[in-house]
Amino acid sequence: MCFRIRIPPPIIHVSLKAIICLCLFASVKAAFGGLEKYPNLIKADSPPIISAPSRDGVKITYLGTNAYLFETRDTTLLVDPYFSRQNLFRVALKLRPIPETQLIAQWLRDHPKIDAVLVTHGHIDHLYDAPQIVRETGAKLIASSTSVKLAESLGVPASQTRPVQAGRTVSVKNAVIHVPSAQHDRLFGVVPFNGPLKRLPPQKIDDWVTGDPLAFLIRDWRKAHLHQLRWATGRSDFPTLAAG
Ligand SMILES: [Zn+2]
Repeated sequence: MCFRIRIPPPIIHVSLKAIICLCLFASVKAAFGGLEKYPNLIKADSPPIISAPSRDGVKITYLGTNAYLFETRDTTLLVDPYFSRQNLFRVALKLRPIPETQLIAQWLRDHPKIDAVLVTHGHIDHLYDAPQIVRETGAKLIASSTSVKLAESLGVPASQTRPVQAGRTVSVKNAVIHVPSAQHDRLFGVVPFNGPLKRLPPQKIDDWVTGDPLAFLIRDWRKAHLHQLRWATGRSDFPTLAAG
């Protein structure tokens, strides 16, 4: 006697499709490194705890993605601010980014004094919100010449920009900032939105081109003889020099 077990073709077809879709979804998630979660990050935060840094200390606030706020009693540095989280599909389709101007204005009401905004490269998730913050606070923008051109095309006065190249050192009040070069992460083997400037002022998401990726190594100059305070931050994404 012979038994034949037949699995109905439509069920197999559906199952394979589901598996393929699941794999594609998983690979897209891995490839885009959680970009799809951005819209929920800042909006879900509870109200910030407002406190001054201690007399000799440094207050470090992580703001999501690659954004950090460094505060001493004398100096406030903001790295790669990004409040206007764009969803994955808007990025993938290279649409016009949507600014969160009210959200930024609300955050700035609690943080009106920013001495400098340090930006590692020109992509929207690093530079997009910097022009508004620099304009509204009077902070200095420290970034590559490409990022500076993007910002100046959006109304940031040249007096508030400081283009820097890898290997340079800049000072902001009592902070000394070393600028090692860096390499940007690759997506499917290429750096996304790379190449020369396309359009000024930028309109669509891919107009925010990488430029020269930078890293920042920040040292509190005032305390250097007591205990060396250093923060390697603003990496994008592989600093190629670990400054001493
Ligand atoms: Zn990038």
